Amino acid sequence: MIKTVQHYINGQFINSQCGEFFDNYNPATNELISKVALGREFEVNAAVKAAQDALKGEWGSMKLNDRIALMYEIASEMDRRFDDFLEAETLDTGKPYSIARHIDIPRGAANFKVFADTMKSAADEAYRMDTPDGKIAMNYSMRQAKGVIAVISPWNLPLLLMTWKVGPALACGNTVIVKPSQVTPTTTSLLGEVMSKVGVPKGVYNVVQGKGSITGNILSAHQGVNAITFTGETSTGELIMKACALGVRDVSLELGGKNPAIIFDDCDMDKAINETTRSVFANSGQVCLGTERVYVQRAIFDEFVSKLKDKASKLVLGIQHDESSDMGPLVSSAHRDKVLSYYKKALDEGAKLIIGGGVPTMTGKLKDGYWVEPTIWTGLNENATVVKEEVFGPCCHIAPFDTEEEVIEMANNSPYGLASTIFTENLDKAHRVASKIDSGIVWVNSWFLRDLRTPFGGMKGSGIGREGGHHSLEFYTELKNICIKM
Ligand code: NAD
Repeated sequence: MIKTVQHYINGQFINSQCGEFFDNYNPATNELISKVALGREFEVNAAVKAAQDALKGEWGSMKLNDRIALMYEIASEMDRRFDDFLEAETLDTGKPYSIARHIDIPRGAANFKVFADTMKSAADEAYRMDTPDGKIAMNYSMRQAKGVIAVISPWNLPLLLMTWKVGPALACGNTVIVKPSQVTPTTTSLLGEVMSKVGVPKGVYNVVQGKGSITGNILSAHQGVNAITFTGETSTGELIMKACALGVRDVSLELGGKNPAIIFDDCDMDKAINETTRSVFANSGQVCLGTERVYVQRAIFDEFVSKLKDKASKLVLGIQHDESSDMGPLVSSAHRDKVLSYYKKALDEGAKLIIGGGVPTMTGKLKDGYWVEPTIWTGLNENATVVKEEVFGPCCHIAPFDTEEEVIEMANNSPYGLASTIFTENLDKAHRVASKIDSGIVWVNSWFLRDLRTPFGGMKGSGIGREGGHHSLEFYTELKNICIKM
């Protein structure tokens, strides 16, 4: 049966006033799985009003301890409904259970606990000062909620990335309006059921489903929204930032990347191969932190290429609930077209194809899904399109380098600066190179090791601001100074 995915506004699941829906497909089979309500002005206005009213009601005056307890309840209820979230997320995205079970769903719930703890342990600053008339004044800072926060999120890790923003926003006492990606709408609405079940007051968590160019546009322009936190493409981030200029509203942008991996000839080869296999191919390459440019020191170049090829050739492509699947399809037919156009462009520009480069032969129900092959190229120069632009597919280009200085320059020669990896057994070299790489995150001999208390965000075109741990409090609260003359 085809399901309906609705908006969740003011504690109610509703369809659009105009009755519009759009289709949502299973990426593994291209079968229609749901009809999704398409939000326009009416729904965005209703969500903003609900979110504003909630700030004036029970939620706005709730004690911090009660809010924290509610956040823990949300996480516990998500754990209880683990299988529902797992099913919904893997159907929308096509990603294997093996990934979603270990990353997406547990992290979705953890985001509520981590930020509840962060808020609980947040300290206030205090400064005592002498006054001109010989007395003393005391300054102290106080955090207050920013207000109504719009959360606009992407499709690659839908629940994880959405709760990464909703968690801290609610912990800080804000209300939210979430606009998930149109291709992965379901877990955001499912979270509405959780909020309702554990007694989060109505209007605190709102979801307006819809397309970016329609619903996202209306939401980001709405002057009742006090700040926007966005994850997605850099070009969309630019539009959101422009929208935020009107009304001088705060914006946090987590954007695209073209992340380098640097493999020195003194690395532990097995470690470098295993981690790079994950960083290139995990989630079918649809990870903002994933590697698309690999630089390998010349002495080990051929060995590395051959070993990564061997790993890629063994990846099992399959439907989400098949426990042997390593890799699912891409998220949508439009995204597959985009990735395949890059596959073609790489060859047009003279790449040497090491493996992949096309569409795999899938059988039965899977033959109409949005599959692409894990792909590796060599032989391109640094100005080639697939070396410069973010592909967001299961692919990488591998280039040789000779010196440390040369590879630092190659790694930094990008409009992006989100994440990078370095493989070497020389600790001095690791520190030296890490300090010179222009990216928000540098992993040494690892990838995707995430401590949620650490600052997360990108340099250059990869974003503005840092979220994570107490850094999230900077965005989700207004810091007020109170000065009392004694
Ligand atoms: P996208 O920019 O197309 O869409 C992201 C969200 O913005 C969606 O909800 C979409 O509907 C909405 N949107 C689109 N146009 C809009 C507009 N004009 N106004 C308002 N909202 C609009 O991105 P995507 O394709 O969903 O996600 C992939 C991109 O996200 C990649 O570039 C990836 O690198 C990036 N990403 C970055 C991070 C990070 O933490 N830096 C994490 C995940 C993904």
